[in-house]
Amino acid sequence: MNKAIYFDMDGTIADLYGVENWLADLIAENTRPYAVAKPLVNLSLLARYIHKAQAMGYTVGVISWLSKSGSDAYNEAVTAVKREWLAKHLPSVEWDEIHIVKYGTPKSTCRTCPGILFDDEQRNLDEWGAGAVIAQEMMNAFKHLKNLEVLIL
Ligand SMILES: [Mg+2]
Repeated sequence: MNKAIYFDMDGTIADLYGVENWLADLIAENTRPYAVAKPLVNLSLLARYIHKAQAMGYTVGVISWLSKSGSDAYNEAVTAVKREWLAKHLPSVEWDEIHIVKYGTPKSTCRTCPGILFDDEQRNLDEWGAGAVIAQEMMNAFKHLKNLEVLIL
């Protein structure tokens, strides 16, 4: 059976909403908030969990939305900055998939196999269906990594 673990970025692993003036900057098409967002979890620990999951056969990916009404040029710039953030903060992780998609894209349409989604937005959890876990429970869920597949049954 294929199994996967996907991460949202903003509000899940990256504290975009904790950046001062984040919304005004996004509306003004400034990429700064995405670049300076601080980690929301212990990323070296998360990296270790990801390595372990991959060693157990999990596909590990990111599914992250772009800003609400960005132009094509801004979306392109944000995509680059989000990829840079991942490379900077999780340098040892070799992602199997990175999906940075238009705001509102149903996240279940991005996955390549059934799995777990960690996300801070209830509507994404609802849309994903079985295997969705609220971001705040993420690190706790990983403590029981060998049982993670139970979540997607
Ligand atoms: Mg989010």
